[in-house]
Amino acid sequence: MSKTLLNVRHVHAALDTGEELLRGLDLTILAGETHVIMGPNGAGKSTLANVLMGHPDYQVTEGSIAWRGEDLTHEPTNVRARKGMFLSFQTPEEIDGITLSDFLKAAKTAVEGRPTPPSLFRKQMQEAMALLDMDPAYADRYVNVGFSGGEKKKSEILQLLMLHPSLAILDETDSGLDVDAVKTVRQGVAHYRNADNALLIISHSDRMLEELPIDAVHVLVNGVIVHSGGKELIEQINRDGYAAFVREEA
Ligand code: ADP
Ligand code: MG
Repeated sequence: MSKTLLNVRHVHAALDTGEELLRGLDLTILAGETHVIMGPNGAGKSTLANVLMGHPDYQVTEGSIAWRGEDLTHEPTNVRARKGMFLSFQTPEEIDGITLSDFLKAAKTAVEGRPTPPSLFRKQMQEAMALLDMDPAYADRYVNVGFSGGEKKKSEILQLLMLHPSLAILDETDSGLDVDAVKTVRQGVAHYRNADNALLIISHSDRMLEELPIDAVHVLVNGVIVHSGGKELIEQINRDGYAAFVREEA
């Protein structure tokens, strides 16, 4: 079996207004790899994450998105999630009236196609929460309601650990976190990673990325990947900014 998980070919994506946000994007991710997307504000990083997950705000007008060789370009989000794709949002939503525990249970059942026995589910959740240094009481609180920024991000990583998808897309999971929370999140992500799954990390900071083995770094400017390279790009960008890449794109 091919190790290719995600194969994005020349994807153009636009809003209903016709405004094009992704302008011919290529990306191939194999099992066992970690890819990083960097780029200035408004470059289209979150758009890319949403397009990969099939967010209805964005229409793929050209190109294709294949998952393990199967064309998913026009499949809805729930199909992609069932096949093993996962997105941790830049701004996690609050869901009033549904506890974190019930939410995770429902998500897990939807993705796996059958419910996890309650005692096993509870054990898995307790272990994952302990790993993330989360107060177990949060399991019975409504999803993200009244959570701090850091707690919201942790609840996203909790989902990641409970659902163990084949590809996890993390959209600025490290933003707004203090040093200790970044470390905890990074440990959660490292715990998730294995040779069979893959990570696509959208991040500005190297705090999240240090200690993670990184296979490729892609610089996204104005809806296209203008440059790909290795881990050294992170250091270069943090030192010199995006100016050189923005010029390259123009
Ligand atoms: P990044 O995550 O790289 O900062 P985004 O992907 O969020 O950038 O946004 C890229 C551009 O597309 C921005 O100008 C943003 O305002 C616009 N955009 C993204 N999604 C929408 C949307 N649903 N409606 C309107 N504009 C959007
Ligand atoms: Mg964004």
